[in-house]
Amino acid sequence: MSDVVAFESSESLFGRTLEGLEARLVGDGVSRAHARPLWRAMYRDLSLSPISLPGLPPPLQRWLGRHAVGDSLRPVLELRHASDSSDAHTQKFLFGVRDSGPEIETVVMAYRGRHTACLSTQAGCAMGCVFCATGQMGFVRHLTAAEIVFQVVEVQRRLRDAGRAGVRNLVLMGMGEPLHNYDSVMQALEIVSERGGLNIGPSRITISTVGLVPGILRLAQERRPYHLAVSLHGVTDEERSALVPINQRWPLAELLEACREYTRATGRHILFGWTLIEGRNDTPAHARKLATLLEGIPAHVNLIRLNPTGGFDGKTSAEVSAEAFQKVIQGGGIPCTIRQHRGIDVDAGCGQLSVSRAGKTQ
Ligand code: SAH
Ligand code: SF4
Repeated sequence: MSDVVAFESSESLFGRTLEGLEARLVGDGVSRAHARPLWRAMYRDLSLSPISLPGLPPPLQRWLGRHAVGDSLRPVLELRHASDSSDAHTQKFLFGVRDSGPEIETVVMAYRGRHTACLSTQAGCAMGCVFCATGQMGFVRHLTAAEIVFQVVEVQRRLRDAGRAGVRNLVLMGMGEPLHNYDSVMQALEIVSERGGLNIGPSRITISTVGLVPGILRLAQERRPYHLAVSLHGVTDEERSALVPINQRWPLAELLEACREYTRATGRHILFGWTLIEGRNDTPAHARKLATLLEGIPAHVNLIRLNPTGGFDGKTSAEVSAEAFQKVIQGGGIPCTIRQHRGIDVDAGCGQLSVSRAGKTQ
């Protein structure tokens, strides 16, 4: 689908920070000064074959003749879904990873001319949340930093070519658990937020985790400037462990203590994600308990009504239950929104597109 050229070197440059790119050029005997023009070609011109761009310094052009820029992911499918409201729509991209493993997804949500891209950080996921299509698939492998960055590059290029505004916000809520792939995710976020390149500022980036306590504490210690979302889904260890098995490793009390520590250290609030499943976690009693659990933690609760998946027999909450839940949380003084699940009919739920394609080809 895109003009990807095969090069001698297999390292994708999309995995390098600007400093890393400088080091690479210097290592190959090319002046450090050529790193910025190349960086701009990759992230401003969004070129996969910058060698063809006019005005590049000859030594850089010669170097580019011998090295790959980016064939990290192979775009395989694009679906577009317009919602009932004319200013909102969802676009979904499916990418094949190099080793012909499973496909990963990137979703772009548009609302009032602003675009939010939802990125994948792993192929599959090891966490096994029972309602999640990616969890049902199991873990395949971590994505490299280049593969994470490339999702943004590809989306930006398509938006630009369609004459539309670029990506404003990034959420790491696609396939995979970002804090299980900590180093590559942090490397990728450093690259996409660099000002002379894609320039998506840290305050417009949200990392969503299922609750890996050491990762949350590390984000706080390292003073990472991104927003944090924590997916909770249960108010007791018994209920949460039944939905989110990793709760057995880091139970609620430990997780909430890490959240407190995170908010103290960073001064930022946490966005708590809650997937509403009929009768399992969507009653007013659940909402009251949740409001109590979150006391003292600067929080915002984000409710998502379950997208049904093949491997889970839970049902979507009724709209009235979601609204009643929201009122209780708000009554406890905690801001609470209900996320519209736009794009369900293009399988825009986490991991659902690649699962449904696999099903159709079997
Ligand atoms: N692994 C991270 C980020 C990816 S999942 C995490 O779990 O937070 C992003 C969000 O989608 C999570 O809040 C998750 O609970 C939610 N989700 C996954 N499957 C879903 C489904 N079938 N219906 C509704 N929400 C779902
Ligand atoms: Fe993994 Fe998140 Fe899905 Fe759980 S909800 S299986 S952590 S992607």
